[in-house]
Amino acid sequence: MGLHFGEGKSGSGAPGIPGSDDCAHPGCGRHDATPCAYVDRRGRHCGYSWCPEHQRVFEGDPYCRRHGNVMAAITTGTIERIEPPDLDNRALSLCEWVANDLDMEMVGLLDEIKEGSEEAFVHINPLHLVVLRTPPSRTWARTWTLGDHTGTMRKIGLEVNESADTVVVATVDGNTVAREVPPWISDRGTPISEEAVQRRRDEFRVKLVGSIVWSAKNAERPWAPVS
Ligand SMILES: [Zn+2]
Ligand SMILES: [Zn+2]
Repeated sequence: MGLHFGEGKSGSGAPGIPGSDDCAHPGCGRHDATPCAYVDRRGRHCGYSWCPEHQRVFEGDPYCRRHGNVMAAITTGTIERIEPPDLDNRALSLCEWVANDLDMEMVGLLDEIKEGSEEAFVHINPLHLVVLRTPPSRTWARTWTLGDHTGTMRKIGLEVNESADTVVVATVDGNTVAREVPPWISDRGTPISEEAVQRRRDEFRVKLVGSIVWSAKNAERPWAPVS
C-alpha cells in the first residue's frame, strides 16, 4: 500500500511495454507507444497511447499513469471487482489533487494533536474508493489517521463522490465538516485576473483546512492528560 498518483516511471517498477504508436505525453517524441488498456464501466476506451517511459504497467497491462493508478486503487484492499469509473468522471483526480496539495497541513495538524500521547503515530492512507450498496454510492477518499496500538484516535479525510464530482468534502472522524467547490471549477469561464485566481485558490484551501483544524482540535481527546 504505497500508491501515489503521478509518481514513478512505470509505477511499481515493472518494465514498460513497447508498441508502435506515437506517445501522447506532451513533448515526448517517442514512437514506441502502446494504447492504454483502460475501459470504463460503459465500455469506453481511454484512446491514448504511451511509450514505456510514460506508461504504468499494472497486472501485465499497459496504462496511462492515471488509469494505471485507477486500476490499482480499485483492486487494492478489496476482493470484489469494482467497476472502473467513467472516463470523464473527475472525482478521483480532484480528490487526489486536493489531498496532495493539503497533505503537509493534514500531517502537521495530527502531529500537533498527538501531543500528550506517547505511542501515537500518524498514518497517511492512499487514495481508495468507498463503495456503498444502498443507496448506491462511490466515493474517492484520502484519509490521515492518528492512532496507537488500541486503534484510531482521530481520522481526517478529503472525499469526492462520483455523483457530485465537483464538490470536495472534508471530514473529521467520519463527520462532514466542509463542502467546497474548487474555484478552478466554479469560476470556469469567468474572466478574472491572475491575482484574483490566486486569492480564490487560497480562500478554498483556507476554508477546507480551517474547518478540519477547528473540528479536529475541538473533538474530544481522551488520551490527553486531564490538567
Ligand atoms: Zn513518452
Ligand atoms: Zn488511459
